[in-house]
Amino acid sequence: MSDDGVSDAERKMQFLYQIRSHGVTDKAVLGAMERVDRGLFVQGLFSERAYDDTPLPISCGQTISQPSVVGLMTQALEITPRDKVLEIGTGSGYQAAILAQLARRVYTIDRFRRLTRTAEALFAQLDYTNVTVFTADGSHGLPDHAPFDKIMVTAAAEDPPGPLLAQLRIGGIMVVPVGQSDAVQSLIRVRRTEEGLRYDELRDVRFVPLLEGLGKE
Ligand code: SAH
Repeated sequence: MSDDGVSDAERKMQFLYQIRSHGVTDKAVLGAMERVDRGLFVQGLFSERAYDDTPLPISCGQTISQPSVVGLMTQALEITPRDKVLEIGTGSGYQAAILAQLARRVYTIDRFRRLTRTAEALFAQLDYTNVTVFTADGSHGLPDHAPFDKIMVTAAAEDPPGPLLAQLRIGGIMVVPVGQSDAVQSLIRVRRTEEGLRYDELRDVRFVPLLEGLGKE
């Protein structure tokens, strides 16, 4: 029981209710979000807001995404237990943890070593053996591990990065926020079919920008 008299169980129910009311209906995705404790990925000052449906600051000037957006993006990838998934923008590691519940293998990249180190330590603590974390500029993807069944970009790009599209398997899906970094962006889903790429627009979102090169921290 926390100070405000709300039990952990009630908090969790409210958390899931908010996610569902934003259109996350996939049972596997909801199950994954029920199992992963977002509180572990939000540290310090903001930890008591970990179960609110809101983005929160993490270190290196970055943010952990809003839970309902995490749910919608995960749902849009239509993940199966055989999928190999690439995430660009590890941040806190929360989204990667959700992906790791649903997919066979998850590769996640961030440009800040400080973030990848913290996320890696959490995955070890939680005994997640199917997530590998890389410190690199993720816009180049991971050619050595391509192709991927699914790719999720959690930072806003001006256009879907070409190297990532090239690393998507036929039949694969990529979701990426597209637009200028200081404006509202559009969450785009790209499907690679035998005939080429098919795009559809899912909703407006707001993400930190996809930047070039490595971060300083
Ligand atoms: N998915 C994260 C939130 C991502 S915030 C979570 O669940 O917490 C966006 C992240 O993208 C930031 O951590 C930022 O450092 C990272 N990022 C931005 N540009 C990048 C790039 N070119 N390569 C890899 N990571 C990048």
